[in-house]
Amino acid sequence: MTPIDLTYAPLADNHCHGIYLAQKAMDIASWRQHFTEASAPAMRNTHVATTLFYRRLMRAMAEFLACEVTEDAVLQARQKYDDRSLIRMYLQAANIEVLFLDKGYPSADLTLSDAEHAELANCRVAPMLRVELLMQDLIAKYDTLPRVTEALKAALHDVRGQGYVALKSIAAYRTGLDIRTWNNDDSNAAFVEARREVQVNGAVRLVHKPLLDTLLHVTFAEAARQELPIQFHTGYGDADADMLLANPLNLRAVLERKEYRSMPIVLLHESYPYTRQGAYLAAVYEHVYLDLSYGVPFLGYNEMLNFTRAAFDVAPFSKLLYSSDGFGVPEIHWLSARDGRSILGQVLGERVANGEIDIAEAEAVGRSVLRDNALRVYG
Ligand SMILES: [Zn+2]
Repeated sequence: MTPIDLTYAPLADNHCHGIYLAQKAMDIASWRQHFTEASAPAMRNTHVATTLFYRRLMRAMAEFLACEVTEDAVLQARQKYDDRSLIRMYLQAANIEVLFLDKGYPSADLTLSDAEHAELANCRVAPMLRVELLMQDLIAKYDTLPRVTEALKAALHDVRGQGYVALKSIAAYRTGLDIRTWNNDDSNAAFVEARREVQVNGAVRLVHKPLLDTLLHVTFAEAARQELPIQFHTGYGDADADMLLANPLNLRAVLERKEYRSMPIVLLHESYPYTRQGAYLAAVYEHVYLDLSYGVPFLGYNEMLNFTRAAFDVAPFSKLLYSSDGFGVPEIHWLSARDGRSILGQVLGERVANGEIDIAEAEAVGRSVLRDNALRVYG
């Protein structure tokens, strides 16, 4: 089997997050914390360093920074660069054409601006709006649900006009993807509870299901009218997520709504471990796409091969979009770019060896998953 060489294929990273301005004021524990979703101290103190992801990262960094393959040597070599040179070096090595940035996390005061990302990576930046944060702000501001609903419609009236290319929802981690239609009594009762939290804390974390679901339907109507894509976090994610509720099959009621079909839906994180289910949805619903993320979740190489094979065997190629889900440190964006290209190259090479496609087709498919499909979906 000869792998398809995608080393120089440009990338549109369709789902990632901002990079911290300050890279170096980091001890080992806070450095390792970037490579786990778990917050328990024993995870970063001991267990993170024993994942295949982390070992692969250390080896790749040692090669890139020309130092010994030990954690100490790698982190010392990293410290020698100033923040901007470090970020520039990694991002330019990743050969990125567009970064699609979720502006909801990490917070803007800690991260590079869009213009700085663009300059350091020598790429374009396409920002995306995280809807739950917008909803939380509006709930803190307005004292009735009808006023919040009106304000949300107004805020989402012309999303592209505000410079965003897509919406993003983290409902999977808050109240689950089984987004329902609630009666007024239920959604109002949830609103009253959320407002109580605003009065006590000055802000609300939106985990009130009837309220979040109701506001999501308002959001979907606006997005569908503008033919605007929305990304859903699915599968693997925050440590407090109920993984059963993050299974993309829970989205059925939303997917079935005819009036939402003009809203392209991107299922993030290859819906891991529900990749087959996510790929299946991309195969049966015209408006569903599957994101293949090679940074997060933090997997061994073999499992990344497995999810890629499953995605290619189930979903149409035109529905698969590359991403890193990198955040905070540039190493995730960079390692993902290397791994994504090589894994896609290997899986496509296997398909050529099977006689399913020829080499020219395989190269074109690789480039469309790495770049072209995202540019088409987000416009
Ligand atoms: Zn993300």
